[in-house]
Amino acid sequence: MANLPIVQFEKKIIETVEQNPVVVIIGETGSGKSTQLSQMLHRKGYTDSGIVAVTQPRRVAAVSVSRRVAQELGVRLGEEVGYAIRFEDRTSERTQIKYLTDGVLLRESLSNPELNQYSVIILDEAHERSLNTDILLGLMKRLVGSRASNLKVLITSATLDGEKVSKFFSDCPLLTVPGKLFPVEIFYSKERPTSYVESSLKTALDIHVREPEGDVLIFMTGQDDIEKLVLKLEDKVRSLEEGSCMDAIILPLHGSLPPEMQVRVFSPPPPNCRRFIVATNIAETSLTVDGVVYVIDSGYVKQRQYNPATGMYSLDVVQVSKVQANQRAGRAGRTRPGKCYRLYPSRVYNDEFLDVTVPEIQRSSLAGTVLYLKSLDLPDIDILKFDFLDPPSTESLEDALKQLYLIDAIDENGSITSVGRTMAELPLEPSLSRTLIEANEYGCLSQALTVAAMLSAETNLLPNRSKSNEKKRKHPPLDLPDGSGFGDHIQLLQIFECWDENDYDIGWCKYYDLQVRGMLFVKEVRKQLSQIMQKIAKGSSDVQANQSRKGHQNYRNLRKALCIGYASQLAERMRHHNGYRTLGFKSQLVQPDDDGLYGSYVVYHELISTSRPYMRNVCAVERQWVMPILDKLEKLNVSKLSGGGLGQVEEGTEGSMSELPKREAEVVTVPQER
Ligand code: ADP
Repeated sequence: MANLPIVQFEKKIIETVEQNPVVVIIGETGSGKSTQLSQMLHRKGYTDSGIVAVTQPRRVAAVSVSRRVAQELGVRLGEEVGYAIRFEDRTSERTQIKYLTDGVLLRESLSNPELNQYSVIILDEAHERSLNTDILLGLMKRLVGSRASNLKVLITSATLDGEKVSKFFSDCPLLTVPGKLFPVEIFYSKERPTSYVESSLKTALDIHVREPEGDVLIFMTGQDDIEKLVLKLEDKVRSLEEGSCMDAIILPLHGSLPPEMQVRVFSPPPPNCRRFIVATNIAETSLTVDGVVYVIDSGYVKQRQYNPATGMYSLDVVQVSKVQANQRAGRAGRTRPGKCYRLYPSRVYNDEFLDVTVPEIQRSSLAGTVLYLKSLDLPDIDILKFDFLDPPSTESLEDALKQLYLIDAIDENGSITSVGRTMAELPLEPSLSRTLIEANEYGCLSQALTVAAMLSAETNLLPNRSKSNEKKRKHPPLDLPDGSGFGDHIQLLQIFECWDENDYDIGWCKYYDLQVRGMLFVKEVRKQLSQIMQKIAKGSSDVQANQSRKGHQNYRNLRKALCIGYASQLAERMRHHNGYRTLGFKSQLVQPDDDGLYGSYVVYHELISTSRPYMRNVCAVERQWVMPILDKLEKLNVSKLSGGGLGQVEEGTEGSMSELPKREAEVVTVPQER
């Protein structure tokens, strides 16, 4: 791809890399950082002494960019060029250029802390500030200082934040690849529209009717809105008078699209045809779509945020930052002067948008990350003073420590336990790794593997949750298992077992409207988890599920294992209220997401904050399993857990678990609508 801006700087880039262990490269999105840097290093011979790794925060980018590079080099994907994402490794002995998610590289560094297999590690898309890339930045800093062989680290960013990264690496060289961005004219709306789907539709049609050729990229917030807008656009475009304007192709683009649908955006349109690409922020910097001349920016993005005070997640539609808005606009000026239509007034941009996006580390639950860092056993530093580009809050570190303590991953002094070490080896969130380990002790590993795999699917595989699904369903799933009154985890298990009994028949999934791709993924994940468990947990055996399935079951062992794995996610039934209250976090009234009642105690997979907070995926557990956890909670001493490392935190300070409200204490009243 000789015409990509970055290629003209090959000599300079290689020279700088030769002379420095760490180099930061700033270049506009689409300048060729992701696809070309690895190939330059390959040409220079860096793949002779090891693999060139390129990390990506998003799975879809790792897959799509590696596919492109394989194509450019004329090799088969999975051979000289491959990718590795969680639960999917398409690399081989011959792989020289490897695209992998930042999470996969973190995991690899557990078994090989020096990362000796790599001659170069490129941390791509550092501007996205994903939690895992932030941790990798800290690890690379240590590694470059210590590793005997000459590892090269390149960090790429599409924004000027690169300067901050260069400072972090003791003012390492920073190369800027001038993008050949054409001017983009920006148009603001007079006011915020009441519906940005409608407003995008109108703007898109205006462009189609009035403006010369050029593709239109529309930024929406999520799959639902994208699907809505795609349908509406198709409908409207079809009703336009034939010959009144050029043909149109309308393409959705988001992370949960099947790969064959994702790559469609890379094929150029036929002549005299305009493409409308309706995308999430995945098209902001991760994937570059060529041919775009018009951008419509809703100004919003869907962001998952975690509140360490309440233990709740929320999936909020929030305003983008100025940096994001400018990235979006920039997509219009790659091939010629473009136009960007912002569906918000300039006042909102100037006064309300944050300058930069809040890094993920400051809006995530850190239990998995803290466990990971503890398991690295880094000498000479207190893990909680790890060298972060932007540190997380004390509150979220405390929250992580409390969660880890309750599930026995760390002891009362904050040191990692042997259970914690085993947990860190599983590519799962701490609650599920803990469940697997416990299930192995109780002889119900097979069932627990299924539950963990079902919960690792990206889509919800429970048939009776979404009301909109219900409407679409052709066959009401009356004869599908219902969890036998024990809740979602058990239902997920039963569904998979039923599919197993039906010889993993695809038609069976279709009949029950279960996403086939999701179910096949679960089967593969289950197999991989089972192999990992056999390696790491002595005496583990994945007994075939059918052996334990005869007759009526109360799933006691599995539920007990889940109770221990989810010890920090417990709720107690409120006898005088219709719902449960959370234990462990600030006491809150919450409902299971199907409004069911599952006995006196439940554990939940996560708490979702909406106007009526609810527990996603619950499992009924028994009082005698809960009591020891409550005892542990009462004795909890946060200050000791953090080894004094969190500064002022004292035992019993506000918000800490040791101040657990007394039974049936004050209940937060919440509106009844969800
Ligand atoms: P950057 O990392 O600087 O944003 P990339 O290397 O991702 O830039 O993109 C460079 C070019 O390669 C763009 O024109 C983009 O459209 C193209 N490209 C990237 N991935 C693919 C793909 N899977 N198929 C086709 N073209 C691609």
